Amino acid sequence: MRIAVIGGGPGGLYFAILAKRQDPGRQVTVWERHTAEDRFGFGLVFSDETLDRIADAGTPVAASMAREFVRWSDIEIHYHNRTQTAGGHRFAGLGRMTLLRILRDQCAELGVELKHGTDAPPVEELARSHDLVVAADGANSAVRGGYAKFFRPRLEVSRCRYMWLETDRVLDAFTFAFIQTEHGPVHLHAYPYSGERSTVIVETDEHVWRELGFDRLAAEARAPGESDERSVAVCEELFRDFLGGHRLLPNNSQWLRFSTVRTATWRHRNIVLLGDAAHTVHFSIGSGTKLAMDDAFGLAAALDGTAEVETALEAYEAARRPVVESFQRAAQSSLEWFESVRWRSGQPPEQFGFTLLTRSGRLSRTKLRARDPGYVAGVESWFDRCSGGTGESPLEPIEQPFSLCGRRLPNRLVADLAQTGEPHEEAGLYLTEPLSLSDDDQATRWAQRLTSLRQRDDALYGARLAGSWEYPALRRANEAGFDLVEIPVPQRNVLDTVAAARAEWPDDKPFVVRLERHGKSAEESVALAHALAKQGVDAVNVSGATSLGERIRLETGMPALVSGAASWEEANALLLSGRADLVSFGSR
Ligand SMILES: Cc1cc2nc3c(=O)[nH]c(=O)nc-3n(C[C@H](O)[C@H](O)[C@H](O)COP(=O)(O)OP(=O)(O)OC[C@H]3O[C@@H](n4cnc5c(N)ncnc54)[C@H](O)[C@@H]3O)c2cc1C
Repeated sequence: MRIAVIGGGPGGLYFAILAKRQDPGRQVTVWERHTAEDRFGFGLVFSDETLDRIADAGTPVAASMAREFVRWSDIEIHYHNRTQTAGGHRFAGLGRMTLLRILRDQCAELGVELKHGTDAPPVEELARSHDLVVAADGANSAVRGGYAKFFRPRLEVSRCRYMWLETDRVLDAFTFAFIQTEHGPVHLHAYPYSGERSTVIVETDEHVWRELGFDRLAAEARAPGESDERSVAVCEELFRDFLGGHRLLPNNSQWLRFSTVRTATWRHRNIVLLGDAAHTVHFSIGSGTKLAMDDAFGLAAALDGTAEVETALEAYEAARRPVVESFQRAAQSSLEWFESVRWRSGQPPEQFGFTLLTRSGRLSRTKLRARDPGYVAGVESWFDRCSGGTGESPLEPIEQPFSLCGRRLPNRLVADLAQTGEPHEEAGLYLTEPLSLSDDDQATRWAQRLTSLRQRDDALYGARLAGSWEYPALRRANEAGFDLVEIPVPQRNVLDTVAAARAEWPDDKPFVVRLERHGKSAEESVALAHALAKQGVDAVNVSGATSLGERIRLETGMPALVSGAASWEEANALLLSGRADLVSFGSR
C-alpha cells in the first residue's frame, strides 16, 4: 500500500508512524514544506488523559514525550489584583519543535520517507499514484480548499485577536492573567513548556484591540516571517507586573483571529482530512494537537486489517466525528467566554474564576471539588457570604435565600404551580401556569388556593400572566394574594406597556418580565433589560438562555430567572457562576 501524507505536523507524522508500524510493507511518504530546522510554534499543553491514549498506542513516542515534559498541576487566575489557584489538575507541557523531533526520529527509524523543505506534489497526482492521500496540512489546508465542493468547509472567525508568543519567565501553573486598560481588558493564557520557557498567548477583543492602536501596528509593512515587534513591546508593557522583568519573545508573531473550521465530510475518494485540516478547536482548551494525534490513531485503527480504503475512511470518520464535535462544542463555549471578558470585568474574583474554570462544560463543580476541595469550598463560602451567611459551613447555592424587591425567598429554586395538587418541590418561588385572570372568579379560586398553600411554607407565589393578559389581571393577581407577577415582554409599545403594568402592581411586590425568544440579538436584549429596569422591573426571566441571563445580570445588575437546569448539580453551577439568581428545572 502506498500512502502519501501532506504535512509533517503532529497529525501527519504520528499517522505515518502508526501506519508504518502496523504494516512495515507499506510505503509511507510525508511531505513537509518547512525544513527540520525551521523553528515554528511554541509550547503545547497536554492533559494526562491524552498522554494515556498516546501510551496505549504502544509506540516509543509516549516514553520520549514523557522524558521531555514539564509537569504541573495548578491553574492560576490573576484578576483584579488577586491570584486564585485551583490545583489537582495534571498537565504536561512540551515544545512543538521537541514533539516534531520525537515524531520525525520515530518516522526515520521505521523507514517512513520524510521529504522536508518540500511542498507536496499536487493532490490529484498523489491521489492517482497512491492508494491513500492523508491531508494533514493544517488549519489553512489547501487540500480542503481545493476540494471545497466536496468537503464543504465552514469557517467561523472569532471576534478576538490573539498573538502567539513565549516568555523566559518559567511558570509553574497554567496561568490566565487579566489586566484592565482604559479601553477594556486584555488577557493572556500562559503555560510552561520547558525548563527555560513558557508559552504566552495574548488575546483581546476587537474593540479593545483597535482602541489600543494594535490595528495600526499590525498594518505596518514587514517581511514574511518578521514579527510585529512593536505590538509585542506594547504587550510587554501591559503585562509588566505579571512578567516581573521577564521578556515576551516573538517568533513570527503576528496578530491573528482564530478560525473554527468545520467540514461536512472529511473524505473524498481516497483523500482524507486529518487534524486541523478537518477541524479546529480554540486554543483555550489546548486540544488541537491531541485531536490531530487522536485522528491519526483513529485512521490507523480503521485501516488495520481493511483492504478497502474507502471503507476504512468511512469507519474513521464515523468513529472520530462525534468525539471531535463534542470537543468543538466545548471549545466554542470556551471561545465565547473569552470573547465576553469585556462585559465580565466587574464580576467578583471568585465568580469570575469559577466561570473561567467551568466555561467549556468539561470541568464541573464536582470534578473541581475532587481535584481541589479547598478551592471549591472557598467559592461556596464566598457565595454564602453574598447571600447573608457567615461563610462557615455554607449551604448549597440553590438552598441559599434570595431577596427580590425586599421580599425574601427561602431558597433559589423556582417551581411550577398548578391550580390543584401539592407542589412536588420545596421551592423558594412558585409560578403559576400562564393565566389570563380575565374574571374575578378565577382570582377568588386562586386566593383560596394561596391561603391553603401558605400554611405549608414561607415561599413566594407568583402569577405568570399569559400573552393575552389585560391590565385588570394585575389588580386581580394582587387581590388574590400573589406575591409576584410575571408578564411576557409585550409585542408592541414595550416600555409604555410595561410602565403602565408596573404602575398597576404594588411597588413592594416583585414585578418580572419574561424575555421570550423574541428574535433579538444579545445586545438588543441587554439594551431592553436596561430600559425595563428603568421602568421598575425587578427581574427578568430568560427561560433557557443562560448566557443571556448572565449577561443581563452583569450588565444591568438585574436578577435573572433561568429555567431548564437538567440537574441539581447544574442548578448549583448556574448560581455559583453567576449565570442565574433563581433557577427552575424542566424544559428550556
Ligand atoms: C495559539 C495556539 C496555541 C495552541 N496551543 C495548543 C496546545 O497547547 N495544545 C494543543 O494540543 N494544541 C494547541 N494548538 C493547536 C495545535 O497547534 C494544532 O491543532 C495542531 O498543530 C494540529 O496539528 P496538525 O498536524 O493537524 O496540523 P499542523 O500542526 O498545522 O501541521 C500542518 C503541517 O502541514 C504543512 N503543510 C501545509 N501544506 C503543505 C504542503 N502543501 N506541502 C507540505 N507541507 C505542508 C505545514 O507546514 C505544517 O507543518 C494551538 C494552536 C494555536 C493557534
